Amino acid sequence: MRDNKKLWKVEARARNAAMADTVFGRIIRGEFPCHKVYEDDKVLAFLDINPLSDGHTLVIPKEAAETMDQLSDESAAALGRVLPRLCRAVIAATGARQYNLLQNNGRGAHQAVAHLHFHIIPKPNHREGLGIGWPARILDRDAAAALAKKIAAAIK
Ligand code: AMP
Repeated sequence: MRDNKKLWKVEARARNAAMADTVFGRIIRGEFPCHKVYEDDKVLAFLDINPLSDGHTLVIPKEAAETMDQLSDESAAALGRVLPRLCRAVIAATGARQYNLLQNNGRGAHQAVAHLHFHIIPKPNHREGLGIGWPARILDRDAAAALAKKIAAAIK
Protein backbone atom coordinates (compact mmCIF):
# COMPACT_ATOMS: atom_id res chain seq x y z
CA MET A 1 0.00 0.00 0.00
CA ARG A 2 2.80 2.38 0.98
CA ASP A 3 4.76 1.49 -2.17
CA ASN A 4 1.64 2.09 -4.23
CA LYS A 5 1.29 5.56 -2.72
CA LYS A 6 4.95 6.33 -3.42
CA LEU A 7 4.60 5.11 -6.99
CA TRP A 8 1.47 7.22 -7.43
CA LYS A 9 3.37 10.30 -6.23
CA VAL A 10 6.34 9.64 -8.52
CA GLU A 11 4.02 9.10 -11.47
CA ALA A 12 2.03 12.22 -10.62
CA ARG A 13 5.24 14.29 -10.46
CA ALA A 14 6.36 12.95 -13.85
CA ARG A 15 2.96 13.72 -15.34
CA ASN A 16 3.02 17.22 -13.84
CA ALA A 17 6.36 17.90 -15.50
CA ALA A 18 5.24 16.48 -18.87
CA MET A 19 1.96 18.35 -18.79
CA ALA A 20 3.31 21.68 -17.63
CA ASP A 21 3.52 22.61 -21.29
CA THR A 22 -0.08 22.00 -22.33
CA VAL A 23 -2.07 25.09 -23.14
CA PHE A 24 -4.27 24.45 -20.09
CA GLY A 25 -1.18 24.15 -17.84
CA ARG A 26 -0.16 27.57 -19.11
CA ILE A 27 -3.61 29.00 -18.48
CA ILE A 28 -3.51 27.65 -14.91
CA ARG A 29 -0.14 29.32 -14.36
CA GLY A 30 -1.40 32.60 -15.82
CA GLU A 31 0.99 32.42 -18.80
CA PHE A 32 -1.89 32.29 -21.32
CA PRO A 33 -5.04 34.40 -21.03
CA CYS A 34 -8.52 32.96 -20.66
CA HIS A 35 -12.06 34.16 -20.05
CA LYS A 36 -12.30 32.83 -16.52
CA VAL A 37 -15.69 32.00 -15.04
CA TYR A 38 -14.65 30.17 -11.85
CA GLU A 39 -11.58 29.34 -9.78
CA ASP A 40 -10.84 27.63 -6.48
CA ASP A 41 -7.71 25.94 -5.14
CA LYS A 42 -8.28 22.77 -7.21
CA VAL A 43 -10.47 23.77 -10.17
CA LEU A 44 -10.50 26.37 -12.95
CA ALA A 45 -13.29 27.04 -15.48
CA PHE A 46 -13.12 29.29 -18.53
CA LEU A 47 -14.78 29.77 -21.92
CA ASP A 48 -13.75 27.50 -24.79
CA ILE A 49 -11.85 29.45 -27.42
CA ASN A 50 -13.77 27.70 -30.26
CA PRO A 51 -17.26 27.31 -28.79
CA LEU A 52 -19.86 24.96 -30.24
CA SER A 53 -22.48 27.33 -28.82
CA ASP A 54 -22.62 30.45 -26.61
CA GLY A 55 -21.51 29.60 -23.08
CA HIS A 56 -19.37 26.57 -24.06
CA THR A 57 -17.26 26.29 -20.92
CA LEU A 58 -14.26 24.15 -19.98
CA VAL A 59 -13.80 22.91 -16.42
CA ILE A 60 -10.35 21.61 -15.52
CA PRO A 61 -8.57 20.32 -12.42
CA LYS A 62 -5.40 22.20 -11.51
CA GLU A 63 -3.80 18.80 -11.01
CA ALA A 64 -1.96 17.78 -14.16
CA ALA A 65 -3.92 14.63 -14.97
CA GLU A 66 -4.26 13.81 -18.65
CA THR A 67 -7.28 11.50 -18.48
CA MET A 68 -9.99 10.68 -15.95
CA ASP A 69 -8.40 7.39 -14.87
CA GLN A 70 -5.29 9.32 -13.78
CA LEU A 71 -7.11 11.83 -11.56
CA SER A 72 -6.72 11.77 -7.77
CA ASP A 73 -9.79 11.31 -5.57
CA GLU A 74 -9.24 14.82 -4.14
CA SER A 75 -9.39 16.54 -7.52
CA ALA A 76 -12.27 14.31 -8.62
CA ALA A 77 -14.23 15.34 -5.55
CA ALA A 78 -13.45 19.02 -6.14
CA LEU A 79 -14.61 18.76 -9.77
CA GLY A 80 -17.73 16.81 -8.84
CA ARG A 81 -18.66 19.36 -6.19
CA VAL A 82 -18.51 22.32 -8.53
CA LEU A 83 -19.74 20.88 -11.86
CA PRO A 84 -23.48 21.08 -11.07
CA ARG A 85 -23.10 24.69 -9.91
CA LEU A 86 -21.25 25.59 -13.10
CA CYS A 87 -23.89 23.85 -15.25
CA ARG A 88 -26.59 25.86 -13.45
CA ALA A 89 -24.62 29.08 -14.04
CA VAL A 90 -24.12 28.36 -17.75
CA ILE A 91 -27.81 27.62 -18.36
CA ALA A 92 -28.86 30.65 -16.29
CA ALA A 93 -26.52 32.95 -18.22
CA THR A 94 -27.30 31.63 -21.71
CA GLY A 95 -30.96 30.75 -21.38
CA ALA A 96 -30.26 27.35 -22.97
CA ARG A 97 -32.20 24.76 -20.97
CA GLN A 98 -30.49 21.76 -22.54
CA TYR A 99 -26.79 21.03 -22.58
CA ASN A 100 -24.19 18.28 -22.88
CA LEU A 101 -21.43 17.50 -20.40
CA LEU A 102 -18.57 16.00 -22.41
CA GLN A 103 -15.25 14.61 -21.32
CA ASN A 104 -12.87 13.01 -23.87
CA ASN A 105 -10.03 10.67 -22.90
CA GLY A 106 -7.26 9.99 -25.43
CA ARG A 107 -6.59 11.19 -28.96
CA GLY A 108 -8.68 8.44 -30.55
CA ALA A 109 -11.56 9.58 -28.34
CA HIS A 110 -11.28 13.18 -29.63
CA GLN A 111 -9.10 14.58 -26.83
CA ALA A 112 -6.99 17.36 -28.36
CA VAL A 113 -5.53 18.90 -25.17
CA ALA A 114 -3.66 16.47 -22.90
CA HIS A 115 -5.00 17.93 -19.67
CA LEU A 116 -8.26 16.48 -18.36
CA HIS A 117 -11.25 18.74 -18.99
CA PHE A 118 -15.02 18.70 -18.96
CA HIS A 119 -16.96 20.60 -21.61
CA ILE A 120 -20.27 22.19 -20.62
CA ILE A 121 -21.94 22.73 -24.01
CA PRO A 122 -25.31 24.46 -24.18
CA LYS A 123 -27.68 22.93 -26.77
CA PRO A 124 -29.95 25.85 -27.67
CA ASN A 125 -31.26 24.28 -30.88
CA HIS A 126 -30.57 21.41 -33.27
CA ARG A 127 -27.95 23.38 -35.25
CA GLU A 128 -25.73 24.64 -32.39
CA GLY A 129 -23.99 22.75 -29.61
CA LEU A 130 -22.76 19.18 -29.67
CA GLY A 131 -23.67 16.78 -32.49
CA ILE A 132 -23.16 13.14 -31.61
CA GLY A 133 -22.73 9.95 -33.62
CA TRP A 134 -24.04 7.09 -31.48
CA PRO A 135 -23.39 3.76 -33.19
CA ALA A 136 -25.34 1.67 -30.68
CA ARG A 137 -25.37 -2.15 -30.75
CA ILE A 138 -27.54 -4.65 -28.90
CA LEU A 139 -26.11 -5.90 -25.62
CA ASP A 140 -25.47 -9.62 -25.60
CA ARG A 141 -26.79 -11.00 -22.29
CA ASP A 142 -24.12 -13.64 -21.62
CA ALA A 143 -21.23 -11.47 -22.68
CA ALA A 144 -22.66 -8.60 -20.61
CA ALA A 145 -22.83 -10.68 -17.43
CA ALA A 146 -19.19 -11.71 -17.80
CA LEU A 147 -18.07 -8.20 -18.69
CA ALA A 148 -19.90 -6.58 -15.77
CA LYS A 149 -18.21 -9.05 -13.40
CA LYS A 150 -14.82 -8.34 -14.98
CA ILE A 151 -15.21 -4.58 -14.60
CA ALA A 152 -16.51 -4.91 -11.03
CA ALA A 153 -13.48 -7.04 -10.13
CA ALA A 154 -11.13 -4.42 -11.60
CA ILE A 155 -12.41 -1.61 -9.36
CA LYS A 156 -9.70 -0.63 -6.86
P1 AMP B 1 -10.91 18.20 -26.48
O1 AMP B 1 -11.12 17.86 -27.92
O2 AMP B 1 -11.91 17.55 -25.57
O3 AMP B 1 -9.49 17.98 -26.03
O4 AMP B 1 -11.21 19.77 -26.38
C1 AMP B 1 -10.21 20.73 -26.26
C2 AMP B 1 -10.91 22.06 -26.28
O5 AMP B 1 -10.01 23.04 -25.83
C3 AMP B 1 -11.40 22.49 -27.67
O6 AMP B 1 -12.81 22.69 -27.62
C4 AMP B 1 -10.64 23.80 -27.91
O7 AMP B 1 -11.42 24.77 -28.58
C5 AMP B 1 -10.30 24.25 -26.49
N1 AMP B 1 -9.12 25.10 -26.38
C6 AMP B 1 -7.90 24.89 -26.90
N2 AMP B 1 -7.07 25.89 -26.57
C7 AMP B 1 -7.79 26.75 -25.81
C8 AMP B 1 -7.52 28.00 -25.15
N3 AMP B 1 -6.29 28.57 -25.22
N4 AMP B 1 -8.49 28.60 -24.46
C9 AMP B 1 -9.72 28.04 -24.40
N5 AMP B 1 -10.05 26.89 -24.98
C10 AMP B 1 -9.11 26.25 -25.69
